[in-house]
Amino acid sequence: MKALVKVSPEPGLELVDVPEPTIGPNEVLIKVLRTGICGTDLHIDHWDPWAQRVVPTPLTIGHEFCGEIVELGSAVEDLKVGMFVSGEGHYVCGRCRACLAGKRHLCRNTQGIGYMVPGCFSEYFAMPAGNVWEHRVDVDPDVAAIFDPFGNAVHTALQFPALGEDVLVSGAGPIGIMAALVAQFSGARHVVISDLSEERLELARSLGLVHAVNPAQTPLSSIFDSAKMREGFDIGLEMSGSGRALSDMIDNMTHGGRIALLGTPARPTEIDFSKIIFNMLTLQGVTGRQIFETWYAMTVLLESGLDISGVITDRLPYTEYREAFTIAGNGRGGKVVMDWS
Ligand code: ZN
Repeated sequence: MKALVKVSPEPGLELVDVPEPTIGPNEVLIKVLRTGICGTDLHIDHWDPWAQRVVPTPLTIGHEFCGEIVELGSAVEDLKVGMFVSGEGHYVCGRCRACLAGKRHLCRNTQGIGYMVPGCFSEYFAMPAGNVWEHRVDVDPDVAAIFDPFGNAVHTALQFPALGEDVLVSGAGPIGIMAALVAQFSGARHVVISDLSEERLELARSLGLVHAVNPAQTPLSSIFDSAKMREGFDIGLEMSGSGRALSDMIDNMTHGGRIALLGTPARPTEIDFSKIIFNMLTLQGVTGRQIFETWYAMTVLLESGLDISGVITDRLPYTEYREAFTIAGNGRGGKVVMDWS
């Protein structure tokens, strides 16, 4: 079968023939239909310092997918051939304190598919049955392919109840836009999304996020009047990884405001902690998804009418992966999905 592989420890990826995976008793074999390209995949392609430190070679990359189960391991009883599925790409140990407490998203021994263990950018993919999520409602395959980053957005946006609150989302990449849409869907009064890229802001506006601003041109505080905000944002969702965006957010929060941080800074960030202390702000780090509570939330949000399909801006066959990665890497568009069917 074909697979997109980081063959050797240097920049680039290769579409190569590899053996079809064989499955163990507790695994299923999935025919991959669609995959999403994540920033992580771009880091691995470019072979940046993080990738050099973490990623073993050779390795099939990729962690965002949907597909159809085509074979069951001998011990798998709760899944069926033909099911339309995605999967949680974090394999947890099951034995650490968090795992034993049922908080698998906090496992200290997590292994991630596509950067630590083999990923899903291939025609067939083997996954432990316990990581598989069945799409029980009618979900478009392109949307099903991005449940992993949609889950990041939902996990972040649901950290703090948004009903009636004013929410600032910094970073209008696909995950930031999805988080803003979830906050809006959850009953926030105003959702303001910020980014330095006009293309991304335009995408956000086209999806119904009317308060999409470039903080380099429009100070965040200048929209308080038009939005009838008196004291600042109640909730902040930091999705950009920019230290400057976080500082700007902290400066514009109401006293007692709560901030969830998903964007990962590339380097240590300087923060004025006196503002956290005197304004009694809460900072909550967020990673991954709750296994499987966030997956349940994603499914029922879609079922309830939330539409995130607009963040997908480009669809290409996997054979055009080089073009797909170039589009994903130019930082202007939305989500890029590759078709493996
Ligand atoms: Zn664990």
